[in-house]
Amino acid sequence: MTRLGLGTWHMGEDASRRAAEVAALRLGLDLGMTLVDTAEMYGDGGAERVVGEAIRGRRDGVFVVTKFYPHHASRAALAKACDGSLGRLGIEAIDLYLLHWPGSVSLAETVEALERLVDAGKIRRWGVSNFDVADMEALVHTPAGERVAANQVLYNLARRGVEYDLLAWCGKRSVEVMAYSPLDEGALGAHPALRAIARRLGATPAQVAIAWTLRKPGVVAIPKASDPAHVRANAGALKLVLDAETLAQLDRAFPPPRGKRPLEVI
Ligand code: NAP
Repeated sequence: MTRLGLGTWHMGEDASRRAAEVAALRLGLDLGMTLVDTAEMYGDGGAERVVGEAIRGRRDGVFVVTKFYPHHASRAALAKACDGSLGRLGIEAIDLYLLHWPGSVSLAETVEALERLVDAGKIRRWGVSNFDVADMEALVHTPAGERVAANQVLYNLARRGVEYDLLAWCGKRSVEVMAYSPLDEGALGAHPALRAIARRLGATPAQVAIAWTLRKPGVVAIPKASDPAHVRANAGALKLVLDAETLAQLDRAFPPPRGKRPLEVI
């Protein structure tokens, strides 16, 4: 997986924006952000269709992540949901298929259904989203549950809760962490302390926020951008390395959770 991908929440909701959304994703792919994150939920399938159009003719160079609803996590419903996503995306296999959030179907049934999709060649690997440590513990104690490849969670400068224990837990077990809303849904772009730090570095606040989520290995960030200027700026974040002094300033402006486990284990 590339460390910096492209989010798609709110894409595919409005036909008049579709061409611009496809163009934004293609630009991001051209700039090396070759992971695309989507979900059957986004735009009621519309975002998967936008992704399908953006990757047409260049599927081989793209890592496609999509998510299924918890109410589709049963044996029968998951096979149908997966076929629906494959059809909208216009691809033969999903690279990473995630349970969008914990639900009421047993993890044992969901994992078995996911493993069947792997055997059928419809998905390459699977993972979860919005799972806390207790959820992950339950998962890895389910048959084949230790095959979980990733956990996609809310993680940005203003939302550091996963640093308390989840990041270290995932790091220890080589479960990839995908940081969603790395710009706190855009709000970080206007944060005064972040703006001051970014100005000193000759970068934008969004670039600093993204570089911060990527400061440790084992974390992938998936900012969403429809504006081409935003896409270009975000791609630039890969080149930004934050020094110790900047990280300390960021810690003062956005304090980590109290009692957190050391990140060094990631
Ligand atoms: P985000 O990426 O933190 O922020 C997106 C917002 O920031 C958009 O309004 C975007 O505007 C703006 N933006 C992007 N680049 C910018 C830049 N360089 N400067 C200033 N503003 C910028 O929020 P998100 O969409 O919630 O999260 C990212 C992705 O994570 C989602 O799209 C989705 O794929 C995934 N996600 C997953 C879950 C889950 O439950 N698993 C939940 C939420 C999100 P423009 O679009 O106008 O460029």
